[in-house]
Amino acid sequence: MEEEEASTSSATPPTKIRRMCHYNKDWENKYSWITKANVDTRAYCKICRNEFAVAEGLKGVNQHAKGGKCASQVPKNGLFLYA
Ligand SMILES: [Zn+2]
Repeated sequence: MEEEEASTSSATPPTKIRRMCHYNKDWENKYSWITKANVDTRAYCKICRNEFAVAEGLKGVNQHAKGGKCASQVPKNGLFLYA
């Protein structure tokens, strides 16, 4: 049996919503020095033991890595993945 799906209902309009980014556990594969903070929109830096916002996604991670107190200690190979 074959059923045709109504293509009208499956189409989602590409609306530009600025959603808050949440911490993504996958980042830990690349950024071993971070872990999830108590808040979804924040990450915890194991190096300087500070939390920082990841509301803008990896941008926040990279910003911390470059501008944080621990900038010099962040492994260079665990840096930069502007997705
Ligand atoms: Zn740090």
